Amino acid sequence: MAEAVEPLAGLEVGGLRAAPGQRVTGLVAIDLGEAVAELPIVLVNGAGGGRRVGITAGIHGAEYVSIAALRRVVMELDPARLRGSIVAVLTANPAAFAARSIYLNPLDRQNLNRVFPGDPAGSASQRLAAWLDQNVITGADLFIDMHCGDMNEALVSFTGMELTGEPAVDALSRRVADAYGLDFLVIGPLPGSTTTAAATRGIAAVLGEVGGLGQWPEADVGRHAAGLRRALVAAGVLPPSAATGPAGGSSTLLTQEAWLRSDVSGYWHPRIAVGERVTAGQPLGEVRDAFGTVLRSVDAPIDGVILFLVTSLAMNDGDPLLAIGAP
Ligand SMILES: [Zn+2]
Repeated sequence: MAEAVEPLAGLEVGGLRAAPGQRVTGLVAIDLGEAVAELPIVLVNGAGGGRRVGITAGIHGAEYVSIAALRRVVMELDPARLRGSIVAVLTANPAAFAARSIYLNPLDRQNLNRVFPGDPAGSASQRLAAWLDQNVITGADLFIDMHCGDMNEALVSFTGMELTGEPAVDALSRRVADAYGLDFLVIGPLPGSTTTAAATRGIAAVLGEVGGLGQWPEADVGRHAAGLRRALVAAGVLPPSAATGPAGGSSTLLTQEAWLRSDVSGYWHPRIAVGERVTAGQPLGEVRDAFGTVLRSVDAPIDGVILFLVTSLAMNDGDPLLAIGAP
């Protein structure tokens, strides 16, 4: 006896509609109150049934590797070989992209990845988060958020996920994160983020981070793109033969993360490099005043590896300095 198979349906998001076997692109206008955002969206509806995958890039507007890699993967994949569907938002924060803005949406000076699940009656970032939450995350079986270091951040490549307590969901997140094949896998929540919003409602979710510093060299774009293709293969929406590009590796598991922030504005003089292993108590750098006098010395609170490092001399009160990940 054959299993019941759901008839293939049209895929519809924000007024765009893709029939089975079709890829559709368009700019979708989102009312943010004080402005209208035009989100470049790609719908790919597979020729066969399967999981629905939501993917975003450019939640932070100056994270170019993620933006370039997502566009490449979804515009190149063959809808006839896709089982399931993809809703991809290629540049999720257009005002931040246009302004080349670090961390913040210039419309309201909010970090879009700290206000999820958003508020449809709130500020510009809260409205944008709410639209993405309702149209790209909700209804997905898997959500992938692509980032890299911001314009002032160097980072080692890593994936992130968190545990929902639902074994099948957590197993899918882990399989997809492992397939992405980056240097580290960080397990833990980030309140207000896309992936935590997804996990909170029981949707498998993975963060991918490759490259940074406002650059988008082919080595990084190719690596992010290849990781995403392997992730889509692992989710069963692409066939194994679609996993092209540079090979992935196995990720070192990290379950602790220490984010260090500056509590003073000044000049940041790090003493360590991204990817370096450090031990608790080790001096990591100083924030100095304009004349070079040390205002703050920063020591490592735990043993671990430097996951990302702010490289700009300019440092502001409240901004991140670096993050350390540990097993
Ligand atoms: Zn980011």
